[in-house]
Amino acid sequence: MNAATSRGPLSTWALNAAPSPTLAVDTKAKALTAAGEDVCGFAAGEPDFDTPEHIKEAAIAALRDGKTKYAPTPGILPLREAVAADCAERLGVAAVPAQVIVSPGGKFSCYLALLATCSPGDEVLIPAPYWVSYPEMAKLAGAKPVFIPTTEASGFRVTPEQLEAAVTPRTRLLILNSPSNPTGAVYSRKELEGIADVALRRGLLILSDEIYEHLIYDGERHVSPASFSAEMAARVIITSGFSKTYAMTGWRLGTTVAPLPIAKAIAGLQSQTASNATTFAQYGALAALREKEKSAASVAAMLAAFDRRRRFLHAELNKIPGVRCALARGAFYLFPNISAHGLSSERFCELLLERQKVAAVFGSAFGAEGHLRLSYATGDATLQKGVARLAEFCASLQ
Ligand SMILES: *Cc1c(COP(=O)(O)O)cnc(C)c1O
Repeated sequence: MNAATSRGPLSTWALNAAPSPTLAVDTKAKALTAAGEDVCGFAAGEPDFDTPEHIKEAAIAALRDGKTKYAPTPGILPLREAVAADCAERLGVAAVPAQVIVSPGGKFSCYLALLATCSPGDEVLIPAPYWVSYPEMAKLAGAKPVFIPTTEASGFRVTPEQLEAAVTPRTRLLILNSPSNPTGAVYSRKELEGIADVALRRGLLILSDEIYEHLIYDGERHVSPASFSAEMAARVIITSGFSKTYAMTGWRLGTTVAPLPIAKAIAGLQSQTASNATTFAQYGALAALREKEKSAASVAAMLAAFDRRRRFLHAELNKIPGVRCALARGAFYLFPNISAHGLSSERFCELLLERQKVAAVFGSAFGAEGHLRLSYATGDATLQKGVARLAEFCASLQ
């Protein structure tokens, strides 16, 4: 028997990468619902709204028009042009279409960005709590994830001092995600400038995952670190996409805006893996960016609903003995502290689903024990019922 066969059928990549716990909890909740249980789902990381009509119509028209063949690897040109223009207009980041790559989902955009820049032995800095996929993607690129823990007290935001202390000669890249999944934290311009300063001095690349860029409350504004200077733009890779802003999770469309040499490398990697994002779907995304008034109205309506739910859930959570929760300013998650109940977050979620049919994701999945991630991208009725059940569950633990 050769060495490779005696190792068993799986690779080290497969053995070392954990499957997504958020998708696993959501799958379990959906299976319970299918079995007739009345489940309140707070686990899914997707808007409960449907994709706006004008976007659907554009994709349907594209299908009818025969846009059913391969697209250019980095995406259809008008969409890349629209993304570059949007980047310049809204973020103040000058970009040419050649810097834009459209991929099958923002998740794949992040993965290709890491694959294009990291080599075995490189360290990738990941502030915790983090999105579940970052450490696994870094590992799949052969790099080593290095966590920088943040606290509730600092609003779950990493400081320049913390970053500086975590840098070693092997540090290659920092992953930033503002607004954040799972905490909803939003970095201010000043905070990002401090971080950018460290990145410049220590020669770090930044993967700035800006997928929640439109989902910000309380009059805060999204800032991209790529907008600070040409020097910064040369070391920041922006990933984003259509999933969250336009309720298009099932369409699988992500975007990357990267410095030219990195953009070229990402396109090369995509040409040998996914080839291109679904062709007719890209025409739907094009309508999202071109039909600005319609899109703005849809986003505003969704944002108003999210904001109302955010305030409601925040107020209700803080009424529950043993639960403490900050009011997050972005995305569609709250990240309450439930450590007073003395259970691991995983056990807490398991019992909560079993006894009260409420699905939530345990904080330890995001590198933050003692917390839950609750998504309020769910209907008002579910929200009210779910939080009442959570209160009942907490009372039963006392
Ligand atoms: C949802 C999400 C993405 C991208 O999701 P896709 O569905 O692949 O477009 C990327 N980063 C974070 C933090 C997310 O929550």
